[in-house]
Amino acid sequence: MSKAKPRYCEICGAPIRGPGHRIRLEGAEVLVCDRCYEKYGRKKSGFSIMPTGREPMRRPAPAPRPKREPKPYREKPLYTEEIVEDFAERVYKAIQRSGKSYEELSHEIGLSVNDLRAIAHGYREPTIKEAKKLERYFKITLIERVEEEVEERKTIPKDYEPTLGDIANIRIRKRKK
Ligand SMILES: [Zn+2]
Repeated sequence: MSKAKPRYCEICGAPIRGPGHRIRLEGAEVLVCDRCYEKYGRKKSGFSIMPTGREPMRRPAPAPRPKREPKPYREKPLYTEEIVEDFAERVYKAIQRSGKSYEELSHEIGLSVNDLRAIAHGYREPTIKEAKKLERYFKITLIERVEEEVEERKTIPKDYEPTLGDIANIRIRKRKK
C-alpha cells in the first residue's frame, strides 16, 4: 500500500495520519481519524473496531430512489368553474340586503321564484348560468375558478424529490378567486 496516497476521515474529512481506524457506524464500515475514533469508535460498545491498514472500503451506495411516474404535460392550465360551497348563504344574504321580494327579484334577475328560493335555501346548487346571473345582479361571488395541479409542477426542478408533505400540497388543487 502506497503511503503517498492521502486518505481522509470519512466522518470529519480530515487527512488521516498513520493507519487510521476502521469503525462500524450505523452498519457501514468507515475509516476515521484519531479524533473521530476517540469520539465515535470507543463511545459505544456496539461498535466493532476493525483491523487497520487496509484500503478503505466504500460505504454502500444509497439505494436508488424510485422514479416518479411522468405525468402527462398539459400545454395550458386547466380551469374548472365551481360553485362556492356557501352559495346559499351568499344568495340568501344578498336577497335580504336587497329588501326585495322573490317575485320582484325573479323578474329582475331572470330566474323563476322557485329556482331563486331553491338556491337561496340551499335545496340545490345553481347552474353556472344561474350563478352568473345572480353574481351580476347582486355583485357577489358564487363561482370559483379552480386551477388543476399544473402550475406547481413547472416550478419544481427535475431532480427534486418531494417529501410526503410536498406531495400532499401539490395534490391539493389551487383555488383562485
Ligand atoms: Zn475524523
